[in-house]
Amino acid sequence: MEAKNFIEEIINGELESGKVTTVHTRFPPEPNGYLHIGHAKSLCLNFGTAQKYNGLCNLFFDDTNPSKEKTEYVEAIKADIEWLGFKWYEIHYASDFFDVIYEKAVKLIKDGKAFVCDLSAEEISKTRGTLTEPGIESPYRNRTIEENLELFEGMRAGRFADGEKVLRAKIDMASPNINMRDPVIYRVLRATHHRTGDKWCIYPMYDFAHPICDSMQGVTHSLCTLEFEDHRPLYNWVVENTGVEHKPRQIEFARLNITNTVMSKRYLKKLVEDHAVTGWDDPRMPTLTGLRARGVPAEALKNFCEAIGVCKANSEIEVTYFEHFIRDYLNLHAERAMAVFEPIKVTITNFPENSEQEDFEINPNDETAGTRKITVSKHIYIDSEDFALVPPPKYFRLKKDGYVRLKNAYIIKCDDVKLREDGSVEELFCSYVPESRSGNDTSGIKVKGVIHWVDADTAVDCEIRKYDYLLKDAAYPGQDFSERMNYDSVHVFRGKAEPYLAEVKDGTTFQLMRKGYYKKITEGGKLVLSEVVSLKDGYKPQK
Ligand code: ATP
Ligand code: MG
Repeated sequence: MEAKNFIEEIINGELESGKVTTVHTRFPPEPNGYLHIGHAKSLCLNFGTAQKYNGLCNLFFDDTNPSKEKTEYVEAIKADIEWLGFKWYEIHYASDFFDVIYEKAVKLIKDGKAFVCDLSAEEISKTRGTLTEPGIESPYRNRTIEENLELFEGMRAGRFADGEKVLRAKIDMASPNINMRDPVIYRVLRATHHRTGDKWCIYPMYDFAHPICDSMQGVTHSLCTLEFEDHRPLYNWVVENTGVEHKPRQIEFARLNITNTVMSKRYLKKLVEDHAVTGWDDPRMPTLTGLRARGVPAEALKNFCEAIGVCKANSEIEVTYFEHFIRDYLNLHAERAMAVFEPIKVTITNFPENSEQEDFEINPNDETAGTRKITVSKHIYIDSEDFALVPPPKYFRLKKDGYVRLKNAYIIKCDDVKLREDGSVEELFCSYVPESRSGNDTSGIKVKGVIHWVDADTAVDCEIRKYDYLLKDAAYPGQDFSERMNYDSVHVFRGKAEPYLAEVKDGTTFQLMRKGYYKKITEGGKLVLSEVVSLKDGYKPQK
């Protein structure tokens, strides 16, 4: 199998040497919020790698932090993964392994490799040392095995207050890696767990629980982001010293960062709590539920993840690159339709009283899509952007005495303009060229501009919503996003749409010609067209 990244190179080597026979990965979210685009990268990597090697991928809920976790998040995470089309092999929760993890801690104590420490969190942090200085050994480090067993049992039985005692692994206070300096592996914490309730008042730390859970599930490759690189020696220490049968391997990869995009559950949660957005599923949110509400196809997101690949160096991806994949997908798959955002009424003075039917191309990029009928009549609407009272040079849209083609219909000429008192355009009076019908144009008139329009007799009112980024500036690293919030990120227009848009199923995405990709929604009986992505591709491939 050809390797397309460094992880696959490692796997290929292990399969060849026989170290690994079945590749087994897991996607390990903490159920403390909704998944975002960054998680999609991890999902595609974990599920994609397993798929490629005909292996297995579990869904593993890392729920060792009871105070922040909720069943609501568990359900949302499952729904998001299903939306992406991935199928997990088994579902596990760290909390299902609490008994095993406890036994492993007892084993460490019995082997003289863990001790109960009475230092406060602050004292532990102070005695940990620095990058250049070793730490100081805890005065409780040499408690006897019997005393440790009794105290640890006491922790479990609730005989100590939160924070009064912790269990620490006895490794090396002089290790150059700070994570190896007698790390805390269990803490007393009275919090009701969303699955185990009040059964436990001690909870294992992530670094201790994770390798054990990986091992219990038969995971071969535990893929995580780069900030865990320094934790790998501890991961391996736990695997080696707890006597687990199956030995998983941790491999780190770079996180996904995207310009103009909040990519942290903690901050996304704050946006929701501060009502800066309508919820986790606000179409401006980079959460998977938000993207789904926005109308981003799962395929487009997966294509994006595939294209960015996996590497070992952190970097930042342009948000326009992500949008490029949405547009790319929808260009091939979305039907075309017409709507005008700021309508100007047009009367075609020489048009017959009865309306006429025209063939409208459903998707020029899809030969099988065919055509559907639209009507044109004496009264139509065009977009105010497509008419200029004082046209700039080389203006190919409509102007007084100028010609323009109505998409899939006729050429019209603007003969007269009726203005309101304030000087704005109220109505245009045009004439059409009967010989210029689309597909059968014998008029000989050459026009450079083609504009979209809707038939006023059959048009329906609609609300159009366009979105800006939640963050004003592109730069990601300045983590404090509160000053960078764009509080003007929804723009609403009252427009006119073809009746077809009111008839089709909710959730259908269209290319509104010359406007962008929009998703159809019905809200309170009203037609809403909600922007998915603009038409203009802001992504410039590097030469
Ligand atoms: P956040 O910082 O947003 O809370 P997290 O890393 O704490 O994210 P987890 O639920 O612990 O979120 O993550 C589940 C998996 O997704 C982990 O393997 C994590 O490394 C990965 N992941 C999270 N964010 C990203 C990202 N931006 N890029 C790639 N992988 C990510
Ligand atoms: Mg986390």
